[in-house]
Amino acid sequence: TIESIRSRHRDAAADVVPEHTQLYIGGEWQDAASGETFDTLNPTTGEVLASVARGGEADIDRAVEAAWDAYDEEWSETSRAERQALLTEIADRVEEHQEELATLETLDNGKTLMEARMDVGGVAEQFRFFAGATNSQSGHTRDEPGVHGEVIREPYGVVGQIIPWNFPLAMASWKLAPALAAGNCSVLKPAEQTPLSVLRFLEIVDDVVPDGVVNVVTGYGEEAGDPLSRHDGVRKLAFTGSTAVGKQIMRNAAENVTDVTLELGGKSPIVVHADADPEEAVGVIAMAIFANTGECCEAGSRLFVHDDVAEPILEGLIGAAEGMTVGDPLKEETDVGPKVSQEQVDRTMDYLERAKEGGATFLAGGDAPDDEALSNGCFVTPTLVEGLDHDHEAVQEEIFGPVLEVFRWDDYDEMMTLANDVDYGLAGGVITNDLELADRTARDIEAGYIWVNTWHEMSPGLPYGGYKQSGIGRELSVETLDYYTQAKSVKYGLD
Ligand code: NAD
Repeated sequence: TIESIRSRHRDAAADVVPEHTQLYIGGEWQDAASGETFDTLNPTTGEVLASVARGGEADIDRAVEAAWDAYDEEWSETSRAERQALLTEIADRVEEHQEELATLETLDNGKTLMEARMDVGGVAEQFRFFAGATNSQSGHTRDEPGVHGEVIREPYGVVGQIIPWNFPLAMASWKLAPALAAGNCSVLKPAEQTPLSVLRFLEIVDDVVPDGVVNVVTGYGEEAGDPLSRHDGVRKLAFTGSTAVGKQIMRNAAENVTDVTLELGGKSPIVVHADADPEEAVGVIAMAIFANTGECCEAGSRLFVHDDVAEPILEGLIGAAEGMTVGDPLKEETDVGPKVSQEQVDRTMDYLERAKEGGATFLAGGDAPDDEALSNGCFVTPTLVEGLDHDHEAVQEEIFGPVLEVFRWDDYDEMMTLANDVDYGLAGGVITNDLELADRTARDIEAGYIWVNTWHEMSPGLPYGGYKQSGIGRELSVETLDYYTQAKSVKYGLD
């Protein structure tokens, strides 16, 4: 019942919601200059989880100043070994608090506990990876008779980082770990839907991170994110979120000619060849689109299935979609939790409405689950849609929900033209047991990350980032450090 879900969530919240829900500036918890707060809701129950400081321009100014103070006074003098030790300590702390952080992420975002545990495991892995990567970062020399010069890589100093709500703590780690490893201080703005896990993380690492090295200003995009992206004290901006806001961030960055990296949306194709094993294909496809309730920028959301295997695969997918347990994300048996907010449900439903008008056939889902206990939550059933024109907006735009659009093919070149006919180019995938087909398809898809017979798996060391309007720059790899440093050439005059 609604009441039993609510009481389970209230009990869990009592244990894990952070004590401090203010801004974290210069190592101190501070109210917003305006004194205002905003509520963050639990999308499973619709109840308020916590009230959080509503940061604005004055707070961004203070945070950037605190970050520069920390950089100038101490952080710019740290050795690689010191930064490595700090990042390793952060990873250890995150691991010690894994279950608590995962539960908090589930309460604030709605992802299942199993998914949240994987996220938090990835957070620790991220800090460990960049702890090691600090050592591989180095400049180089240029010398030949009569010429000697060196290229040294220097941190920017203070970087501004803005993150989304789909992987709240994981996205914070993708930003903070390389920024700190490269020797920068950060001002980070979490998404307004999901600020809590980052605040709890700061409580956990507060005594090991020097004051001012990490500063967090919670608040809304236009009130806190916008001034951060325009601030002339910020030397580099890193953003993950929608392509529309990413373009705005780039315009703002242009005001001060600030360097910028962007991880934006996706509409990734899954290409299934005729030789695919239907059962294995169904497993990969269901994971590609339904994991994290479809709220993944790398989700496989357009399926191109070869005619020869379309029947068994679609039948299997319908069974998989209808067989998933949609419900309370705190329960271990739940496969699909709620979306992050009612606004996101409305957005998904609006696309489905337009898909209907566009002549789509719904093979599965397309509505809210038929369960009174879930009626206060932001739930959408796993959905399969066929029969849309490829230029329909529901196909071209990122829905960011558990919605897969199906296209059948028998001509490879025609299929690939459609697979690439979107503005996005974040990821893609191919399902086949033929190595040559896998290689050809991986090369033909215009995207920055390709999976063969799997999805979502990302290993630090393999750079992640988008082609086309899916972004600029790469995260998750040693080269990420290049995006957080600038090259300086030093040329010696030799006689
Ligand atoms: P968004 O781009 O609006 O928000 C992402 C972050 O940017 C948040 O922290 C937000 O507060 C901030 N922001 C918003 N407007 C800003 C502005 N004018 N200046 C500076 N910062 C600003 O994303 P959203 O509205 O939460 O989600 C909308 C869509 O974005 C989703 O439906 C999905 O398609 C896409 N999305 C993509 C990713 C991804 O990882 N690529 C993540 C989340 C959302």
